[in-house]
Amino acid sequence: MPELFLYLFISTTPIYILIFKGSKYSILLKHDGDFIYASISGSVKAGSKTGNFPSDSKRAFAREVLTLLKKRYANEMHTALKHSNPWELLVATILSAQSQDSQVNKVTPSLFKRYKTIKSFADAKPRDLYWYVKSLGLYRSKAKSIVLSARSIMKRFGGKVPSNMEGLISLHGVGRKTANVVLSNAFGINSGIAIDTHCITVSNRLGFVHVRDPKKIEAVLMAEFPMREWGNVSHLFIALGRDVCRAQAKYCSRCVLKRICPSSTYRMHSKNPGNFYRAGISKT
Ligand code: SF4
Repeated sequence: MPELFLYLFISTTPIYILIFKGSKYSILLKHDGDFIYASISGSVKAGSKTGNFPSDSKRAFAREVLTLLKKRYANEMHTALKHSNPWELLVATILSAQSQDSQVNKVTPSLFKRYKTIKSFADAKPRDLYWYVKSLGLYRSKAKSIVLSARSIMKRFGGKVPSNMEGLISLHGVGRKTANVVLSNAFGINSGIAIDTHCITVSNRLGFVHVRDPKKIEAVLMAEFPMREWGNVSHLFIALGRDVCRAQAKYCSRCVLKRICPSSTYRMHSKNPGNFYRAGISKT
């Protein structure tokens, strides 16, 4: 566990800078009324008062996006992967890489019926799992990740799925996206934002980023949205991406963000441009 230093600066609003000893990353927290904004930086030095905080107009835009998406997709602020405990969610999330959640949900019931505990997975060989997961892409490497993760959990974590980012990403085949899904959905911990292909598409079209690197997108979204909403941001962007903002085609006329989105085609055909410009976002 890295050693943690906390710096507090009193300005117009309190700013906290968390610096992890031995790590090049720092986390900046800014308390503003009901919200805490966070920003990850790899270059912030102790004592600096500067940070990558969103401007007021960008923050207002982010809040408006969140409000509209919550109204439209209120029933989708949870993972679609079926599970009954953190381990099952970890397995399902590993299996969901480059596969649809609906496909994963078809194979996990029989898999969890055959292997009921983490120990039973740890005692298995990767090829024992092939029969259960062979309908999914990359099933050999996924089976290997599951078995090796189970063995690590038995050996290093006392048979319990670790409930922190450091422990989860130390498991075989588990990256930040999988760890964020497990932490948010199984433990209720917002340690980051799970960025999948839908989040990449939606984040770019909404103008939050102009890159496709998940780590960079996650850092930007963590700065734009309050920490308590990080789990919801991922679920809502995924819901929007599946519904109308798909990678291959976007259906802006049916989108709840059509009046404020900088990539909306709706405005081009509408006599009422809506509040796009009021949101302070310029078209790119
Ligand atoms: S308005 Fe169009 S481009 Fe913007 S988020 Fe909605 S579907 Fe995507």
